[in-house]
Amino acid sequence: MKYCSNCSATVVLMIPEGDSLPRYVCSTCNIIHYQNPKMVVGCIPEWEDKILLCKRAIEPRKGWWTLPAGFMENNETLAQAAARETLEEANARVEIGDLYAVYSLPHISQVYFIFRAKLLDLDFKPGIESLEVKLVSEQEMPWEEMAFRVIHDPLKHYFKERNQGKFGLHVDVINKVQNTP
Ligand SMILES: [Zn+2]
Repeated sequence: MKYCSNCSATVVLMIPEGDSLPRYVCSTCNIIHYQNPKMVVGCIPEWEDKILLCKRAIEPRKGWWTLPAGFMENNETLAQAAARETLEEANARVEIGDLYAVYSLPHISQVYFIFRAKLLDLDFKPGIESLEVKLVSEQEMPWEEMAFRVIHDPLKHYFKERNQGKFGLHVDVINKVQNTP
């Protein structure tokens, strides 16, 4: 950050009095511009024994497979964000179910929330950020072509637990060197 979004003056990186971390502070109006982690919200859309995957049309990892997921917007709930992202990326309507995974990615200051969801119909098609969307069974999973560990790992838990007949909640951390398969 170079300029204050409040008054357009330059900002300086400094530790405000009583604080412990460097913040961007406006040199003129003195506003402190706090920066906090972003939330990424998505779901595992289920249809019979299959789930819906999206092939990424955008970098990073263009051409690799992922779940419908994206940045949460202001003024929406987690479930609304998951359903909206699924509609945007796969033109698919879902009923959001239980929260399944919460993964922290501290190196990029993101937190992922992944829900299980019921796909409501088969009238889906790629949105602008997807090259292809398709239903895959466990046997058809492109494990070697998953875009990110943060998607790959919850899906590994998902199929294992589905076979066991009981789903848990997975809270975990993925560090920098781990985030690509
Ligand atoms: Zn300012």
